[in-house]
Order: sequence, then structure tokens, then C-alpha cells
Amino acid sequence: MDYASLASGSKGNCHAIRHKDSILLVDAGLSLRQIERRMILIGWDFSFIKGMAITHEHNDHISALPVLLRNTSWKFLLTPLTKKAVELKLHIIIPDNRWVPVESGSQLKFDPWTIRAFPLPHDAVDPVAFRFENEDRSLAVITDLGHISQAVRQCCDGLETLVIESNYDEQMLIDGNYTPELKARILSKVGHLSNEDTAGLLKTMNTSCLNRVVLAHLSEENNHVDLARASAALALSDTRAHICIAEQHNPVLLSS
Ligand SMILES: [Zn+2]
Ligand SMILES: [Zn+2]
Repeated sequence: MDYASLASGSKGNCHAIRHKDSILLVDAGLSLRQIERRMILIGWDFSFIKGMAITHEHNDHISALPVLLRNTSWKFLLTPLTKKAVELKLHIIIPDNRWVPVESGSQLKFDPWTIRAFPLPHDAVDPVAFRFENEDRSLAVITDLGHISQAVRQCCDGLETLVIESNYDEQMLIDGNYTPELKARILSKVGHLSNEDTAGLLKTMNTSCLNRVVLAHLSEENNHVDLARASAALALSDTRAHICIAEQHNPVLLSS
């Protein structure tokens, strides 16, 4: 299963997974024009895109949805509560023939993948992480969460490719310019993951199959690529997992 981060961070998120001539995107935080441009940069065919899974209704994950709905024939995979929240926020209706309902905690078949949605602790109505499986390959996209829950551990169990948030360095956040309210939100149990939180997961998860870790949703204000990478590398030092960093402004391609 190939993976590409098309954009990752608080200004917009969009991930892509590919199996042969099928591509599924995760999150609509990147404009249609930028999706097209970044697909060309990584050498993937735009016409292979079959659908898009949406994790939650925050702007950096849905902003392009109205345009994507109008200008593509993709299916959109999201939970009923997130669908309702997205429709209210963006003043759109996702028609039934374009909607693939996802239930948090259960799985569905969206060819060629089996997809499982796991609940996330985050301040949105029904936020989820997605785990994709096919032909013994597995990949999960887990961003926007305040702490490592039991469901997150389950989502990671025996995983091959993990895309995981590593949002902030705690000291940088505390010393930084954000308002006390915003700092408290990010630090809360339903905010975002620190480098340390992420390292804690990597150190304790079942890494027997893990060969790729993508650190995602890094804060441009409160983190540094070297800090995030060093923290994850230390946690993974006994494994063969390769680490890379998803970027806000450039696509990053991982071929299997
Ligand atoms: Zn986000
Ligand atoms: Zn969010």
C-alpha cells in the first residue's frame, strides 16, 4: 500500500493511499487545484481517486469539501454525526448517493480496502482515526487527538505504516505566543498530541510489523522537525521502522 501526505498541519490536511489504480484520500483540507498539483508532483494519476474519508469537522480537515463535492464524482466516507456537523458548518448537503456511512468502532469494505474507524479523544462531534487494510498490508491515519486512548492502541496493533500526529513540543508551546486559552485547549485531553505523547505510544505499541512511521500535523509555531524526529527516533530505536515527516506545503511520498 503506497502512501502520500499531500498536506499536513493546521493550515490544511490531506493524505492519500493507493493500491494499484485505486486512490483514497483522507481529509479535505487542501484545495482541488492543490490536490491536482501535488498529485502530479508525486506522479499519481488524479483519475484514480475513488473517494475521500473525513476524520472530523474542523476547518483544516474539510475546507475544500464544497468544491470537491461539486467538481468530482468521489464518494465521501464519514460518520453520521460528522456529516451533520460538516453540512451545518459549510452550508452544503452531501447527497445519499455520494455518502458512504462510517460508524465509529466498526468496519466497512470500500474496495480494495477494509476500513475500520476508531474513536479519537478530540474536541469535535465524532472524530475518528482510520485503519486501512488489504492483502496483508495495513496503514492508519491518526491525527487530532489529545491523548493516547485504548482505541488508539487497538488501531495501532500490529500495524505496518503509522501516520501519527506529533503536534507540539511541550516547552515550546508553554513558552510560545499562543493565548492561555489556546495553550490550554491544545494541552487538554481532547486537544493535540505532543512529541512526548507520540513517543510514549511508539515505545509501548506492538511494533512487530511496523516499518514506516509518518509524523504528521506538526505545529509550525510550537514544534520543530528535528525535535519531533529525535523524540520518535529514540522511542523506535529498537525497531527497524523508518521515520519521515509530513509537510504543510509539499507532498511527501512513501512507496511500499
Ligand atoms: Zn487538524
Ligand atoms: Zn481538529
